[in-house]
Amino acid sequence: MDMGLKGKTALVCAASKGLGKACAMALAQEGVSVTITARTLETLEATAAEIRAATGVVVNVVAGDITTEAGRAAALSACPNPDILINNAGGPPPGDFRNWEREDWIKAVDANMLTPIFLIKAVVDGMIGRGFGRIVNITSGSVKSPIPTLGMSNGARAGLTGFVAGLSRQVASHNVTINNLLPGPFLTDRLRSNAQAAATASGKSVDDLLAERAKGSPAGRVGDPLEFGHACVFLCSAHSGFIVGQNLLLDGGAFNATMG
Ligand code: NAP
Repeated sequence: MDMGLKGKTALVCAASKGLGKACAMALAQEGVSVTITARTLETLEATAAEIRAATGVVVNVVAGDITTEAGRAAALSACPNPDILINNAGGPPPGDFRNWEREDWIKAVDANMLTPIFLIKAVVDGMIGRGFGRIVNITSGSVKSPIPTLGMSNGARAGLTGFVAGLSRQVASHNVTINNLLPGPFLTDRLRSNAQAAATASGKSVDDLLAERAKGSPAGRVGDPLEFGHACVFLCSAHSGFIVGQNLLLDGGAFNATMG
């Protein structure tokens, strides 16, 4: 199936590893020129080289913290008029809400709610003017099914989800769509390091913990980031203009419900 994306441009945030990288790679495979961001230049350059070698498309890199104004300005100056915006950043740390102060919450809301909103604000009118735009926010399964230790993620991402529910319906008539992808467990560095921390605390091995995690999913496994990338490509494709303001859960069926 031709996704109709050849020659388009994408700004993919937080994309040197994991889910962001998978989205950048999958878009590049469809002929999209990508600008990828992350804080660590070395890994970012390595990922850019990998995507170029695999796809032959133009890959620009912008090193910086996307949750800061300076980081967003740098990303937007490298890619001011993207056809596609993939919003992503690291998630807030786990913990007990009794220990979180205002500053902790502000950081979480900045990273996982306000950063995507300000990036959308910067690009959405250009997309409307050109009659094509695809915005995908990487959020979390925790938006639908709260994870007890991730209260800041549950809260901040739900705020973004509410905002997007409204805005997506105001821009859809211009062939600009905004949707959210909600990952369950995907085998990325983040999942591995969370499993490592849990292994240290419980005395179990990382492999055993990952196997337990996999058993909790009807699919019997954790997700492959490339599967996530391909779902992202479909939402960004020319064929997805009627998919508006949706929250697509990719969790192997772990969320148990008759309907989403
Ligand atoms: P990951 O493997 O740790 O990769 C995170 C990527 O984001 C790296 O390239 C990292 O590079 C970059 N990054 C992190 N913070 C950044 C910032 N402030 N500015 C710019 N770049 C930044 O993580 P992941 O598993 O792909 O997770 C991506 C998002 O999905 C997170 O918000 C996570 O909470 C959420 N999520 C993941 C899963 C899962 O199973 N993997 C499940 C639910 C939700 P640098 O460190 O060099 O900046």
